[in-house]
Amino acid sequence: MAKRIVILGAGESGAGAAVLAKKQGFDTFVSDMSTIKDKYKRMLDERDIAWEEGRHTEELILNANEVIKSPGIPNDAPMILKLKAKGTPIISEIEFAGRYTDAKMICITGSNGKTTTTSLIYHIFKKAGLNVGLAGNIGQSLAYQVAECDFDYYIIELSSFQLDNMYKFHANIAVLMNITPDHLDRYDHQMQNYVDAKFRIIQNQTDDDAFVFWNDDPIIQRELHKYGIHGRYFPFAEKKEDGLAAFTEKNKVYFTRPMAFNMEQEELALTGTHNLFNSMAAGISANIAGIRNECIREALKDFKGVEHRLEKAGRVRGVDYINDSKATNVNSCWYALQSMTTKTILILGGKDKGNDYNEIADLVKLKCAGLIYLGLHNEKLHDFFDGFGLPVADVQSMKDAVETAYKMAKPGETVLLSPCCASFDLFKSYEDRGDQFKECVRNL
Ligand code: ADP
Repeated sequence: MAKRIVILGAGESGAGAAVLAKKQGFDTFVSDMSTIKDKYKRMLDERDIAWEEGRHTEELILNANEVIKSPGIPNDAPMILKLKAKGTPIISEIEFAGRYTDAKMICITGSNGKTTTTSLIYHIFKKAGLNVGLAGNIGQSLAYQVAECDFDYYIIELSSFQLDNMYKFHANIAVLMNITPDHLDRYDHQMQNYVDAKFRIIQNQTDDDAFVFWNDDPIIQRELHKYGIHGRYFPFAEKKEDGLAAFTEKNKVYFTRPMAFNMEQEELALTGTHNLFNSMAAGISANIAGIRNECIREALKDFKGVEHRLEKAGRVRGVDYINDSKATNVNSCWYALQSMTTKTILILGGKDKGNDYNEIADLVKLKCAGLIYLGLHNEKLHDFFDGFGLPVADVQSMKDAVETAYKMAKPGETVLLSPCCASFDLFKSYEDRGDQFKECVRNL
């Protein structure tokens, strides 16, 4: 009898895993506690894959030989606890897909910068003419692509939740951007559990593999010695030091290994220190993959950026408008402010996840010419920032935020939406918030 694979959660990764499991001849069943999107229902129906929605039927799940869990389902969900008690192996979609391809895997994780770095690496590989797929948190699931396409390389963005259920998977190039506290509610409020999940990116690496990481991250430094990592190290940092695979010196970015080359820092398409790190990580990964220097340089120059991340939204009467709606925590707003080269009207606020605004206080004093609080509850922002002596405004819609910013900003200044907060008080998602911002700027 065919082995039974049950997939819990039928979003992008679950539906893709089901397609691959069916193709591999498994007895495949998909169960989702909420409603499954029509596009995924069609995907399953077209392939005769059994599914249920709005419930988890125990008899159809507990008889699985193996379970593929969507990253959104917490490890302590009741059905997961039952499966664990039975000893049923629970894996992630990425772990499953990795079994059925010999493609080279370039995997990116970190607390911030994953999507940008992943997209940039993909852009370089594409430009170099390689047969490459983009997977993980962005685009189509890895499992679906392994089932339906035949790529030689995959560039995969991995969250800590995906890494949690990975055991044998092996990244040929592992990229770890940084580690700062995030999602601790899913890790028993133990930072170390989250750190350990991130470091799973290098498990199973051999001497032929590579580990690319930000050398100045204190947590990464602290952890490194614990791991008998076989893969070769490719650290990067802003300032020159022995052993770095990339660094800057006198306004140039130097890549040292395997092939040495350099470029002017101001040629990089992405601006700001955080994006310098993203560009370095991407350049090193491409260098390791053997892509020609000229091609890497060109791709780092002409990359168009990723939507909602320091995205140019337009220029009106000499004022630049920048959409950084994805900045849902204080740390990413810090990087955004730091990259501003003019006085800035900052639009911030939303659903606060326990923010400590001290982190951006100095930069706000240095760079901001005005603050616009955009949220249902702006009291905390008033309490913290009003004393800084800057013009402030309190608004509850994007239209009001942009119109107020328009009045506040002088020619030569910048209006930056970098909210430090989640968007769910006034918007459907950070994408919705960013789209509304751009629409309002267009209407000015
Ligand atoms: P992720 O996919 O990890 O959430 P993104 O690439 O989507 O990261 O960027 C999210 C936000 O984080 C951006 O708007 C930017 O302000 C900030 N950011 C991007 N790269 C970095 C980095 N290397 N270090 C710190 N912050 C970053």
